[in-house]
Amino acid sequence: MAVHRSNSTGTDESVLPRFTRAGMMNVPKDRLPEGAMLPQTALQIARDEAALDGNARFNLATFVTTWMDEEADRLYSETADKNMIDKDEYPQTAAIEERCVRMLGDLWHVPEAAQSVGTSTTGSSEGCMLGGLALKRRWQTARRSAGKSTDRPNIVMGGNVQVVWEKFANYWEVEPRYVPLEGDVFHLTADRLLDYVDENTIGVVAVLGSTMDGTYEPVQEICQALDDYEARTGISVPVHVDAASGGFIAPFVQPDLVWDFRLERVVSIQSSGHKFGLVYPGIGWVLWRDAEHLPEELVFHVNYLGGDMPTFALNFSRPGAQVLLQYFQFLRLGREGYREIQQACQDVAVHISDALRSMPEFHVIADGTELPVVCFSMGEGVTKYDVYDVSRKLREAGWLVPAYTMPANREDLSVLRVVVRNGFSHDMADLFLRDLRTAVDWLDHLDGPMPREEQPANFHH
Ligand SMILES: *Cc1c(COP(=O)(O)O)cnc(C)c1O
Repeated sequence: MAVHRSNSTGTDESVLPRFTRAGMMNVPKDRLPEGAMLPQTALQIARDEAALDGNARFNLATFVTTWMDEEADRLYSETADKNMIDKDEYPQTAAIEERCVRMLGDLWHVPEAAQSVGTSTTGSSEGCMLGGLALKRRWQTARRSAGKSTDRPNIVMGGNVQVVWEKFANYWEVEPRYVPLEGDVFHLTADRLLDYVDENTIGVVAVLGSTMDGTYEPVQEICQALDDYEARTGISVPVHVDAASGGFIAPFVQPDLVWDFRLERVVSIQSSGHKFGLVYPGIGWVLWRDAEHLPEELVFHVNYLGGDMPTFALNFSRPGAQVLLQYFQFLRLGREGYREIQQACQDVAVHISDALRSMPEFHVIADGTELPVVCFSMGEGVTKYDVYDVSRKLREAGWLVPAYTMPANREDLSVLRVVVRNGFSHDMADLFLRDLRTAVDWLDHLDGPMPREEQPANFHH
């Protein structure tokens, strides 16, 4: 639910269908219309308004899928009526969900992939909430049985974590401990982590693919540091990997990188099916290492063919179509198809960062060799304009490229970020680079600095 503050003027504002037809009428914006209208009219109004949104193909800001095969579009419209929670009514969708969980268990090296424990979610955010809740409950149970206090749980993570972890900590009353960024490393590293960990730490979040710059946190080293900590103190701190993006990149593009359940300390992993999982918005996945790491008391049981189906979710009803779309992609692409698509994205990202390196106006911070994400700031000599001006100027050509500041300790650094997704071809990248060149030339030729205004609020994606 988006929480919208009303900005109604109190007058009867109205939207007008932008076409001429007998019986043209005014439609109230902020009240339910008294009567009904033809579906064609409602469609026209909603479509016209939606057309004012940015064009998804030019959206280099989002990680989320904006294009699927036509066959997927068909499957989507044919299955839009399915409710994921109706396991009894739609048993095959439920079976397919389980199949997808096992496929991911295999991909992420669950010790017993055939018995993978996990669920689809509405996105990574729900997956993070569930992963975090399991960590909290396990910590509470262990503390209680040791006769120790459960008053002050904390969760340790880098200052670069996505906003969902701040939400998790707030909603479930766990103290968030952010390890601040230092110097030119914009994510959590193993060396300073232990200063923040203690017996009240429910877990450490390691991010595979930082939203800020697309870099990978060194999950293996983080686990190693916690192994050493356990050897020294007897306190075992589990790791949840937030692989919102990397969960569908690393297995295909960096198969030798050890970040997943191959590491014993990794107890849960979540990823966004709707990011590099290549499905339209509305799906994520969360898996646990084994049943032991998902406390039984968090699992609810729904009726399933007269039998019993365990569920762990924040929602009750939610769309089932996305699960079928994920299954479609798994079948359609297979490992090879995913590998080719993600590799193509990475090649394009590296192409962009190479081009940026040859432009003195920019300094490349992340070059797309981890996530296919290019993050760059202004070069040292640039004084007349900043990343926000570049972002605005690119928008004139239709490109949506966010500009934002890095998190605490490096708020002095403002960056631009380009996420390369399926469908952003080499050709489009060259058009983008051409428009970037034009934008920068225009800014370079200003006869004075751009006027300053208040900077926009932090960008979250
Ligand atoms: C996008 C993202 C999230 C939130 O994921 P949603 O699927 O949008 O809910 C969490 N963590 C990271 C690292 C992300 O990039």
